[in-house]
Amino acid sequence: MSQKWDIIIVGAGMGGLTAAAFLAKAGLHVLVLDRNPHPGGTAYAYHRKGFAFPMGPLGFSHPEFIQETLNHLEVGENLTFSRVHYQLRAFDLDIPLSLPFDEMGRELTRIFPSEAEGLEKFFKNLRGMNPFSHLPTHESSDISASEYLHHLVKDWRLRRILGSIGTREPYSGLPLLVAMWNLMGSRGIWYPKEGMQLFCDRLVRAVKRNFGEIRLGAEVAKIRVDKEKVLGVTLKDASEMNSELIISNADYKSTFIKLIDSDAVPPEWFQAISNAHQTNSIFQVCLGVDSDKADLSAFKKAGRVIYRGHQENGQEKESLNWNAQEIDLEAFTTQELEVSLWGKDWDMLSSDGKASIVIRTEAEYNHFSNYRLGWRKRSPKYQEYKTRLAQALIREVDHLIPGLEKAVIVMDVATPLTFEDQGGRSEGAVAGWSWDYDDFREDQPKELIRTPIKGLYMAGYQAFSALFMGGVPTAMESGKRAAEAVMEGSGPIKSILFPGAK
Ligand SMILES: Cc1cc2nc3c(=O)[nH]c(=O)nc-3n(C[C@H](O)[C@H](O)[C@H](O)COP(=O)(O)OP(=O)(O)OC[C@H]3O[C@@H](n4cnc5c(N)ncnc54)[C@H](O)[C@@H]3O)c2cc1C
Repeated sequence: MSQKWDIIIVGAGMGGLTAAAFLAKAGLHVLVLDRNPHPGGTAYAYHRKGFAFPMGPLGFSHPEFIQETLNHLEVGENLTFSRVHYQLRAFDLDIPLSLPFDEMGRELTRIFPSEAEGLEKFFKNLRGMNPFSHLPTHESSDISASEYLHHLVKDWRLRRILGSIGTREPYSGLPLLVAMWNLMGSRGIWYPKEGMQLFCDRLVRAVKRNFGEIRLGAEVAKIRVDKEKVLGVTLKDASEMNSELIISNADYKSTFIKLIDSDAVPPEWFQAISNAHQTNSIFQVCLGVDSDKADLSAFKKAGRVIYRGHQENGQEKESLNWNAQEIDLEAFTTQELEVSLWGKDWDMLSSDGKASIVIRTEAEYNHFSNYRLGWRKRSPKYQEYKTRLAQALIREVDHLIPGLEKAVIVMDVATPLTFEDQGGRSEGAVAGWSWDYDDFREDQPKELIRTPIKGLYMAGYQAFSALFMGGVPTAMESGKRAAEAVMEGSGPIKSILFPGAK
């Protein structure tokens, strides 16, 4: 039996839920389908033995935009946001990363006095700059961050700090680097006092209040298209739902490569999406820790620490071989690690004597894909291998947090496969389209909400060509704009606007 709706939304992530809330408020008969047993997509928290762990976001930018959006949907009451701070512990340095630009410049000049001139120029360029539209006229925006910084500073450590807000070689173009520094030092990264789940809960309330329906455990197997026009969706259980309007909150690759028959997608569009690069994924270890047994003083100044314990000379390329059947554990632990005391200052997330610690490092999807047998199904060696990798990271972080190894009560490990299956990210990509200079060189992120298929729109943080507000607010903005595009009846479009498609 088929059912008809004004609009069907595939995915109950932040983008899908925001679109659903706006459209339900506008009076449309809305159906949201998600294959997960919970709404929220990547932006949700789960529990193990009384500890709360994040699937994805540890924080977000632009709290005022989120507040405004939730206010508009009449679910914005009593929100309190706390600022999250970052510290760098690497290269024998212990320095803050999330200070306002003036203070950041002074702090780095104190540590690198011979680089005072370059530092002044760098922060002068950043100060007050709109990340994407006001690059200084004497600096070309089509320049890699690496090239720009090679002209500006001599010390390789400083080049990495300025160029990656961490310990990596600069990899992006200049506009993206400016956008990242603006989020970190100027706009700030924030967290809601009630926990990350709050946004999802509020959006669900806004959808349901206006008679929108959210069905969980409902996997869409096909978005049916005929003559470049959407007809509806078919679920995994073969049931059909019809609508001439669909918003896909699944990402671009999932939507156009897996959910729509390839002969229904214009060939140049299909090819471009197949070729387009995404950001890397990560390996994540969540630890429930007895805080009386571990020395958590590393988090005194900031809840997030960018850490690299191993000394380098700045010349060598990283030696981690992701093509090997199993990676070298020592090389794995020399990567940059992000170590977070999650829920610091928020009582609801950790009770007395307990702390949630999250360790994250970059990881390649293809290295893990051999272990994938199907959705949420893994081959037998997967568990043992990922546990070994996690234990190596814990041993390494024990240098930063003395006593950590012995203080662990519960451990949960996620790989790119987890972010692909549970988070709904194809290839487990964390931040959507590639940030590499080779893939994205533009001054402005483009909106990627309309598609070549009549009645099909995209929502989610891949619905913009680059980072501009950060993952969560960008996903929400995309949902709002997708709802507007639906109401205006705009689209379809032919032009291919996503980056790195050549
Ligand atoms: C590890 C990690 C860390 C991150 N950290 C941050 C951070 O610190 N700050 C930040 O702002 N952002 C962060 N992000 C980005 C974050 O994912 C986004 O900000 C935001 O939550 C993404 O929302 P979205 O709407 O794009 O959808 P997603 O969260 O990707 O949700 C998509 C939904 O679609 C559903 N879906 C997909 N295919 C189907 C199908 N066929 N049928 C039914 N349902 C389907 C999925 O189940 C999922 O629920 C992180 C992401 C990851 C993976």
